[in-house]
Amino acid sequence: QPVTVEVGLGDRAYDILIGSGLLLRAGEEISRRLPGTRAAVVTDENVAAAHLDTLKAGLEKGGIQPTVITMPPGEKTKSFAHLEAVVDGILAARLERGDVVIALGGGVIGDLTGFAAGIVRRGMNFVQIPTSLLAQVDSSVGGKTGINSPRGKNLVGVFLQPKLVLADTEVLDTLPVREFRAGYAELAKYGLIDRPDLFAWLEANWEKVFAGGPERAQAIAEACRAKADVVARDEFETGDRALLNLGHTFGHALEAATQYDGARLVHGEGVAIGMALAHRFSSRLNLASPDDAARVEAHLSAVGLPWRMSDIPGDLPDAEALLAFITQDKKVSRGALTFILTRGVGQAFIAKDVPASEVLSFLRESH
Ligand code: NAD
Ligand code: ZN
Repeated sequence: QPVTVEVGLGDRAYDILIGSGLLLRAGEEISRRLPGTRAAVVTDENVAAAHLDTLKAGLEKGGIQPTVITMPPGEKTKSFAHLEAVVDGILAARLERGDVVIALGGGVIGDLTGFAAGIVRRGMNFVQIPTSLLAQVDSSVGGKTGINSPRGKNLVGVFLQPKLVLADTEVLDTLPVREFRAGYAELAKYGLIDRPDLFAWLEANWEKVFAGGPERAQAIAEACRAKADVVARDEFETGDRALLNLGHTFGHALEAATQYDGARLVHGEGVAIGMALAHRFSSRLNLASPDDAARVEAHLSAVGLPWRMSDIPGDLPDAEALLAFITQDKKVSRGALTFILTRGVGQAFIAKDVPASEVLSFLRESH
């Protein structure tokens, strides 16, 4: 039996189901909530090769024969050109507003597909079937969708909550270990934000989470509860939800600095380095103890994640150039830098007005 976590958003509340074998139940779960709908499935080539047939069989059981739209894999797919292709595919299938657009894939497919579902016919029904660990613990929940601009990550998009999230833990068996690790960074993030017990549990149990079995599903469910909590409190990120950006200001700058080249750095790896830097920076500002920074670095390193800039292959631009990427990040308001800093493991907070000069000297020192 799957675990159900509800995202409490009043009349837009929805369920996240977490468990194995959910692809085969997709038709039943979707048609129960959205009876009589037609569907488009958007996916990428890797996921299609491994899981599309299973999903189609599952949809068939609910009487759904979807139109399939397949994109190339990778961060570069979050672009205007690919958005246009998805929009065109949905329109070509003659789907109506009440029909459903299903994202089958990682965060890239989820973000792109959700945005398309949000703008075609001014908003269609949307269902997330996340297939990467990152998407299962983070991006499929909460309604943030969008694409990248050459000027930065995630700068164009809409909020569109899904009607249902199906996190089938079995599909993670085909996920490359590097991608599993990258998703693990976002999982550890919830511990570092405000769940110190979760972080300590992960320090003791991470190998079981990687191996599969009950600890994996348990960790994913815990992460979904953490995310659902924050989203229900602050759907549109006017407050607390910004805590989920822990590690992302540095992380996004590093992704931009490596031209979104997944061969060098994928999103979750950028977040891992970003979280380590956020702890080190907090300790440098005398907000947190250096022991906390060392503890975070040690854990990321133990699971095999990169945690410092020198772990990124190839040359990085200098500290000034990295700062320029940071000041272009959307979390900058009126010239002041907003950072998620911490007083220790599980004690993150939103710091407004962080002086750019402090960031610059920290970047010089960490380079
Ligand atoms: P991704 O979608 O590129 O997936 C990673 C890789 O794994 C891809 O090559 C994909 O083809 C492959 N893959 C996925 N599932 C697989 C499976 N089951 N078997 C085999 N291969 C599989 O990247 P991601 O790490 O899932 O997501 C990163 C994206 O998510 C970034 O663009 C980030 O900005 C976004 N994100 C969004 C939110 C949000 O709230 N919307 C939150 C966090 C991250
Ligand atoms: Zn992220």
